[in-house]
Amino acid sequence: LQDGGSEEEKLEAHIAKLRHQIEEANYQYYINDNPVLTDAEYDQLMIELQRIEHDHPELQTPESPTQHVGTGPVQDVSQHRHPVPMLSLANARSEQELLDWHRRAQNILPNATFSYVCELKIDGLAMALTYEQGRLVMGASRGDGLVGEDWTANVRTIHTIAKKLRGKQIPSRVEVRGEIYMPIQSFEKLNEELTDTHLFANPRNAAAGSLRQKDPRVTASRNLSFFGYQIGYVEGMRITSHWDTLQLIREWGFPVNPHVQMAHDLDEVMAYCNKWEKERFNLPYEIDGVVIKINDLAHQEELGTVARDPRWAIAFKYPPIQVATRLLDIRVNV
Ligand code: NAD
Repeated sequence: LQDGGSEEEKLEAHIAKLRHQIEEANYQYYINDNPVLTDAEYDQLMIELQRIEHDHPELQTPESPTQHVGTGPVQDVSQHRHPVPMLSLANARSEQELLDWHRRAQNILPNATFSYVCELKIDGLAMALTYEQGRLVMGASRGDGLVGEDWTANVRTIHTIAKKLRGKQIPSRVEVRGEIYMPIQSFEKLNEELTDTHLFANPRNAAAGSLRQKDPRVTASRNLSFFGYQIGYVEGMRITSHWDTLQLIREWGFPVNPHVQMAHDLDEVMAYCNKWEKERFNLPYEIDGVVIKINDLAHQEELGTVARDPRWAIAFKYPPIQVATRLLDIRVNV
């Protein structure tokens, strides 16, 4: 074992280092709301770890960051166990990777004809809102996907989040999911007001940092907003498509992103991805890609999940653009 060990030992040491770097970045990003890596650097580490684990499945472990979502909740905040896990999304970075995703789904359901819902991938933090008899009783972050943090008091301060559901069809119990985000203008204004030591790197971190506050009055002052995009579970109601889910969420009184669109084949999906890659800079909030979801909920159910991602959805991610911000002399992603 000269040169510090065999090839296998070197690979194991390399994997251990990658996992440590990713876990540390997760902690800074999800718990401290203060990333130490750019998203591009983080994604590079993750892609490398995924590649090695794919080529050496014997080295994969259930604790690996490739197998779980985010990071666990902090200890001094009440915890909420999600009745239905909050997952992440697999990524596609090219048309080919999108086609590969579609082929995998079609191989599982060879007789199915898919249609798709295309949505903007809002760069904020995921939130699960529980309503009992139409009243908001819980607002919880994703955490590690199984257990999140209870931020109900802070969530109540966000104007676009319904405290009471509207409309004719109010289920006895429902969990609405969506993204809390901070508009770009509010982010810039906030950074101008904060002292140098507390600047946020981007609107996503500003949204998470503003929600995760001990004093709800601070959250209330931060101009956070919300788009609904999913139902975690619903009691006593049958919904058959994701498109209908979005209409229901809208009827209940939540903002649903106005740019959601149905697509009937992958050409239409690609046209949507290409359009928003150019037009995203005109939006008043940041997006880091597009989310494509198979529309039929029965298909979603049959496709299920793999590790930390549903098989029925994919995030088409745009290449990060690195800029030097005016306020922070560091490189951040937009
Ligand atoms: P993700 O952000 O790639 O995708 C999943 C998330 O997308 C969901 O949880 C939800 O919050 C969000 N989303 C936005 N719009 C949506 C929509 N319309 N429908 C469904 N979901 C929608 O995955 P992730 O696991 O949350 O985070 C991983 C990413 O976070 C990395 O790729 C990286 O970009 C970033 N990250 C960066 C660092 C860092 O140090 N810079 C550290 C950790 C994570």
